[in-house]
Amino acid sequence: MIAMDPQLEPIAEKVYANQRLSPADGHTLLLSRDIWTIGELADHARRRWHGDTVYYNINRHMNYTNICALSCKFCSFYRKKDQDGAYEYPVDHLAQQAREAAEAGATEVHIVGGLHPWLGFDYYTDMLSAIRDAAPALHIKAFTAVEIVHLARISKRPRDIEGVLRDLQAAGLGSLPGGGAEVFDDRVHDEAFKGKIRSEQWLEVHEAAHRIGLRSNATILYGHIESLEDRVHHFCLLREAQDRAIRDNHPGRFQTVIPLPFVPDRSELEHLPGPTGLDDLKMLAVSRLMLDNFPHVKAFWIMQTLELSQLSLHFGVDDIDGTVVWYDITKVGGCGTHQEVGVTELRRAVRQAGFEPVERDTLYRHVDRQGATWRLAAEAHAEAVMGASR
Ligand code: SF4
Repeated sequence: MIAMDPQLEPIAEKVYANQRLSPADGHTLLLSRDIWTIGELADHARRRWHGDTVYYNINRHMNYTNICALSCKFCSFYRKKDQDGAYEYPVDHLAQQAREAAEAGATEVHIVGGLHPWLGFDYYTDMLSAIRDAAPALHIKAFTAVEIVHLARISKRPRDIEGVLRDLQAAGLGSLPGGGAEVFDDRVHDEAFKGKIRSEQWLEVHEAAHRIGLRSNATILYGHIESLEDRVHHFCLLREAQDRAIRDNHPGRFQTVIPLPFVPDRSELEHLPGPTGLDDLKMLAVSRLMLDNFPHVKAFWIMQTLELSQLSLHFGVDDIDGTVVWYDITKVGGCGTHQEVGVTELRRAVRQAGFEPVERDTLYRHVDRQGATWRLAAEAHAEAVMGASR
């Protein structure tokens, strides 16, 4: 029998009393080697929100270009214009990909890309409306905060983030995926991703999105040159931003936190070892415990592996992401692009871990599915009630 780390006892008392953890508590959790107690506490917190439900979705990732004006050190995705492997897809091609995804049963497309130096603002609004026309039922989750700031610049409205988001929303944008947050710290920013937006701007984009009714997610990229204090600070800034959205009754909110392990392969920080499986489990669990106002914690199986994601369901995770199909951002072990897991495999992983798999749409509404055809479970239920009352 392993004894509980005594430093975790006051934290456990707070978790069971449903009290907020302090930054010092976050630091203690990240330093502790008592992974079992941390997992138990995170599991307690996740069951308060979701019981034994675990969410997944049927989605497809799309990247419109990997050409980027920046050169972040941790990034293995970007290419310069004439470099081997550089690409930019025309709008028709992306609309066709979305149509195929919808025909195969996807409920969502997840779209991000590099900061292309020459594409105009129209390209982005045309892309959204072409996808909406090609596949009207698909939810379009697109663009990290740094892309939104880039779009504001190319639309010549650098200070009108809300106006730019409104234009994108009118063209079909449904929500923001939450990438590009990295770690909210100026030293890490200047060393590893100088040129990218700082934390204040990342948060400003998401707060503007929430004001106009767009929901969003938030990421944290850990396991590179950041300190444990930096990670805790990141959690606290996200938690405060969500507090503000709730206090001000914004129609949009953060839905999900997605801790992303740094993958060194092919990046300029390739010499770093990257996080271990225990780091991954601890970060997922501590995200759940620190971000007490975020309903969902997601394990992104592409980066954490399906096996570890399955185990993480006992460490505070309630979302195991989706079928993905194509993913080009990180290339674990040097392989890339086609990365897909079937629904049967996802559901089996969830059931084996002792949880109940529930298909969701992007906004966490339950989905009622017959093969590639689907509708929202609430609509199906309302129709069934109407049928019974006729
Ligand atoms: S992380 Fe994003 S902004 Fe930085 S180089 Fe890669 S694609 Fe460009």
